[in-house]
Amino acid sequence: MDHNTGDDRFVRLRLEKIGWFKVRADRDVPPADEIDEVSLKKERTGEWFVSLVTSVENTPEKPPLGEIEPEDCVGVDLGITSYIHTSENLSVDTLDLSEEYDRYAREQRKLDRKEHGSNNWEKQRRKVAQAKRAIKRKVRDYQHKLTTWLVTEYDVVAVEDLDVKPMLETSQNAKNKQDAAWSRFLELLEYKADLHGTHVEKVKPEGTTKECAVCGVETAKPIWVREHSCPACGHQDGRDLNAAKNILFRGLKQLGAGRSESTPVQTALPTLTPHREEVGAKRVVEAGSPGA
Ligand SMILES: [Zn+2]
Repeated sequence: MDHNTGDDRFVRLRLEKIGWFKVRADRDVPPADEIDEVSLKKERTGEWFVSLVTSVENTPEKPPLGEIEPEDCVGVDLGITSYIHTSENLSVDTLDLSEEYDRYAREQRKLDRKEHGSNNWEKQRRKVAQAKRAIKRKVRDYQHKLTTWLVTEYDVVAVEDLDVKPMLETSQNAKNKQDAAWSRFLELLEYKADLHGTHVEKVKPEGTTKECAVCGVETAKPIWVREHSCPACGHQDGRDLNAAKNILFRGLKQLGAGRSESTPVQTALPTLTPHREEVGAKRVVEAGSPGA
């Protein structure tokens, strides 16, 4: 293995009896003596892929709950207008794939005009596969970058668990695609969380948009209402920001960070409770008297 990658950013890999390969590595390549296994695979595009298997020992410990600072915790909302929106009001745009999809459609049209099974058809078929591959690669790369950023930047990442996120304005097909992308995103996030020693908490997505992040009172919002404005406490936030804060709140509660009703003395991480006070307007009304 030659890591002296120079300007072309290729890593050089030598396999016995085969010789040197130039490898375009999308992740850090481990030193040769740490590689347990190498496998080669030829894709439909005609490109070769090499997978290097290495074992990771001593994955870092996740930080003890008592030592985590509030600013190292984040809630992540799966956006509708943005890809993700965090409880720190950072929003990451949806990846623009229009050029890649145009190219894919163009190559596909060319393929349709070729004589099926001819040499030219076969050449064109590879181009179609390459165009499709480029889309997949770009999405994958984007998800790698986002998940790496989250697990290195924060100690606690709270995210919505998949299943029933309502997507009122999209078709079932679009929802399935979105779900698939989100599910791969979660897989990557959890896998990297283990490598980097980060807590990832998956929380129930129901009601995260309706609830007020300050007082907890639920208000129904149609999909086009982008602002949260609480009729109970007057709190105002962007819709996605309010949801991200609720997600963080739920995540911290699951971790044992928030104060729970059944064990009021639980003080594992009192300072980590985000903006909302547990004794919100709703709770006070339900509790009735102080002795309840
Ligand atoms: Zn409120």
